Amino acid sequence: MKRRTEVVSKRLADMREGRQGFYVYRYLGTQGFLPNYAFPRQATTATFYEIDNDISREQGLALREYAPGNSIYYRGNRYEVIMARARTELGTPAFEDLLVCPACASAYLGNDAKLPACLSCGTALTGTHVNRRALRMPDMLAKRRTSITADEEERTRLGYAISYHYQPGHALQRYHLLTGAHGSDQPPHSIELTYEHNGRVIQVNEGTVQAQRTDQEEGFTLCRRCSRWLLSDDAVQKHLDPQSSSGCRHSAVEDDILRRVMLFSDAQVDVVTLDLVLPTEGLRRARRRCSTPRWPRPCCTRPRSPSISTRASSTAS
Ligand SMILES: [Zn+2]
Ligand SMILES: [Zn+2]
Repeated sequence: MKRRTEVVSKRLADMREGRQGFYVYRYLGTQGFLPNYAFPRQATTATFYEIDNDISREQGLALREYAPGNSIYYRGNRYEVIMARARTELGTPAFEDLLVCPACASAYLGNDAKLPACLSCGTALTGTHVNRRALRMPDMLAKRRTSITADEEERTRLGYAISYHYQPGHALQRYHLLTGAHGSDQPPHSIELTYEHNGRVIQVNEGTVQAQRTDQEEGFTLCRRCSRWLLSDDAVQKHLDPQSSSGCRHSAVEDDILRRVMLFSDAQVDVVTLDLVLPTEGLRRARRRCSTPRWPRPCCTRPRSPSISTRASSTAS
């Protein structure tokens, strides 16, 4: 506790004096108010409970690396992401509405989630479920851990369910490619390639894969009184128990427990998409491979009978 007090005192002094990450230009740069060529835009910062250091990642990467419960390895130690440092409004994290088109997976945030029909494919969206607890990837606090339980190990091994949503803009460059062996009597394969500079890609962390596989609630659970992430039903029960050593230090009650929280990033990146028909025998393998995307490698497939659409994107340089 003494060490934590020292860390907080030092941080308050840095804020007052504008030192370290609170140097005015650097801070405004990380928040996207100033052009920022040397550092990624909209960075997410992880701070540590025990030491006065912080590390930053571009939001899309942080969505996975700094996700609730994930491990961060720093200077030879393992730290677990335990708390959000989210912007709040009236004592509650500043959530946004998130709606995903069931037909084409286009994602809409905020007021756009009220659209009556999808802008990409025209599907009617009235009646489609709107998630009211989408949270822009917040800064996080991580605490040192020396041991790991079997449950945590399994959660870490399986990782997080991240979905990718690309909404094509109006400045698409389209290319039509024909491929095939020279002299072959087989008809050529047709590939449509599009390129967009600064396309909009929304990524959503929908919770742990472990929760999905065990039919638990999607998303994450957050205590709004103390901003602690609660990663299991057991953790929620202990958090609400004033007798427990894991009880909420702000005496949270059931209404303070916010469930089905989803984290998102909203970025402008250069995007390349490929739409192609895959050979039938390769379809199963391709679907399996593409269903576990890794940013910024090929990120999204939307099976489309009888063809399959493969979309790839890369971050802007
Ligand atoms: Zn759509
Ligand atoms: Zn709490």
